[in-house]
Amino acid sequence: MTTRNVEDYLEVIWDLQDEKGYIKAKDIAYKLEVTRPSVSEMIRKLSENGYIVYEKYGGIIFTGKGKKLAQEIKKRHTLLVEFLKIIGVDEQNAQQDACKLEHDISPKTINCLLEFVEFINLLPESFKWRENFKKYLEERGLLHKERKK
Ligand code: MN
Repeated sequence: MTTRNVEDYLEVIWDLQDEKGYIKAKDIAYKLEVTRPSVSEMIRKLSENGYIVYEKYGGIIFTGKGKKLAQEIKKRHTLLVEFLKIIGVDEQNAQQDACKLEHDISPKTINCLLEFVEFINLLPESFKWRENFKKYLEERGLLHKERKK
């Protein structure tokens, strides 16, 4: 059984809010592949720590503090996806791997990656640079094609 941390939960709760407009424990359990009791326990923990407000029949809503952290997590995720795509990873793998990377590498390394992405984006020839690198990978058979769904 996988255990998930606070950040994984906040990220999924944020996504559900975004996708569905409401958050149900059952959907959280499904997305994180954890048991319902694990979800209940984490909801209690998140609520005790002031990240969310939980009403038994009213659902889950973010507090200001929870919203701020969730947004930071999402920002990190988006930038990691972008970094992985810059180095030739396809969208689907980039999405999956970003979620693994974001919690397991040190904050210092994450910051370096994020600065790198910002730097690349600020280059005057950013687009060309990316295209050239793609060509380079392609010539070596290293460019991953999108997987068929
Ligand atoms: Mn993620």
